[in-house]
Amino acid sequence: MSDRPETIAIYPGSFDPVTRGHEDIARRCMKLTDTLIVAVAHTATQVKAPLFSVEERIELLTDVFAHEPRIKVMHFQGLLVQFAREVGATFVLRGLRAVSDFEYEFQMAQMNRELYGDLETVFLTPEHDFAFLSASLVREVASLGGDVSGFVSPLVLERMRERLEG
Ligand code: ADP
Repeated sequence: MSDRPETIAIYPGSFDPVTRGHEDIARRCMKLTDTLIVAVAHTATQVKAPLFSVEERIELLTDVFAHEPRIKVMHFQGLLVQFAREVGATFVLRGLRAVSDFEYEFQMAQMNRELYGDLETVFLTPEHDFAFLSASLVREVASLGGDVSGFVSPLVLERMRERLEG
């Protein structure tokens, strides 16, 4: 074992709900970090009403990553850089989907660097099947009765059915 300090990455997002795209990005990152903190943002700028509360999203994420002991699920309020300092994060993980994410992600990465120069942002691309997948699309398709079983894990699918039918 080397003496290098533990690498801690933060994967922030709204995860409403966690999709197979999120899972794919998180699992890929485990080759790059010792610990990954999946962090549900309270303050994400969501226009539409959320499907799940922050607590419910944390529960789903915890279940989905139950077999990954190096993945922890947390939540944060306010600035990501502040949270990153508190947990001693080495880098921020973000996923890059086809075309649409680039501009916003580039701006955020630059801003976070201004605010906290030691924090790097690392981008990973998903399996091509998930390159156009977003949680908002999953919510929309499911609410219209479409089959989203290929895009979320079975336990998320079950909770979505309960929520949308109940
Ligand atoms: P969404 O845009 O799906 O509502 P979040 O706000 O929860 O997602 O996203 C958190 C992070 O995960 C962002 O960096 C986003 O680009 C990334 N992400 C979400 N879905 C995917 C996907 N299908 N493939 C790659 N990255 C993704």
